Amino acid sequence: MNSYATQEAVSEQEETVARKGHFYGVYLLCSQSLDPRYRGKCYVGFTVNPKRRIRQHNLGCDFGGARKTSRKGPWQMVMIVHGFPNNIVALQFEWAWQQPSLSTRLKMYPELRRKLPRENYFDYNFRILSKMLGVGPWHRLPLTVRWLETDYERAFDVPLPSQMEIVSGKVSISASQRKRADDAEAPPPVAWAPECHLCIQQIEQPERSRLGCTNPTCRLTCHMLCLANYLLGDEPGHYIPIGGECPLCETRLSWAALLQRKRLLSGVPEELQDQEDDLSDEIDVDSEVEYVPD
Ligand SMILES: [Zn+2]
Ligand SMILES: [Zn+2]
Repeated sequence: MNSYATQEAVSEQEETVARKGHFYGVYLLCSQSLDPRYRGKCYVGFTVNPKRRIRQHNLGCDFGGARKTSRKGPWQMVMIVHGFPNNIVALQFEWAWQQPSLSTRLKMYPELRRKLPRENYFDYNFRILSKMLGVGPWHRLPLTVRWLETDYERAFDVPLPSQMEIVSGKVSISASQRKRADDAEAPPPVAWAPECHLCIQQIEQPERSRLGCTNPTCRLTCHMLCLANYLLGDEPGHYIPIGGECPLCETRLSWAALLQRKRLLSGVPEELQDQEDDLSDEIDVDSEVEYVPD
């Protein structure tokens, strides 16, 4: 299933990944379901541990997999893009790949808005990715495009920026990178808990300390404190932010409006707050990151 040839090649890749610091990846899943309703559908997600993440998707949402992928698999992780400097940059990449028609960087390309009539889901997602790698801010990053399934492997129509590389084979996350991800062999967590997009830690009491974005299509989830600190980045020396840009969708946020929305939602059950919006049948929208225990 994977195409690395020798042990040597694997350790070389391992080294490459390690040199880039912590692992932040944005992956593409394709459904191998026998049910024609789901077969070939794709899903874009973010992870710090691809091996565990694919297991969670295939176990379903009770085990940390996204609701969008639950019972529509088995899923194959066909490719992963990594080498992002931090989780925010990776999450922004994930968000744009999921929703090219809403992304501020991609919405000027009308050809990305829809899947073409005869195009399959994989081809459509590959077309979006090809465009993304050539436009700012991503075209300046030292990204690695890694094929995980040789059956899907294909050439890009336009050459990638020179600092990017295309490789195939499994991802090996070195011990030094596993500071945040737990051991790859550990069983998946039984109960799913939301995870903060900013600090990549579990949100213990979501009803009290979780904040989202005021843009209803944005899936930002974070600790109130983490978002406050993020927004205060522009206003050092203060304790309460006035506002700033959402780290994922770049919508202008006002701190007062965020708190007001939080108060309004606090009486609404969690499931309703999280209702999946059917923005597009082509790409599943879900920015849930996995639960990573300390
Ligand atoms: Zn946090
Ligand atoms: Zn947002």
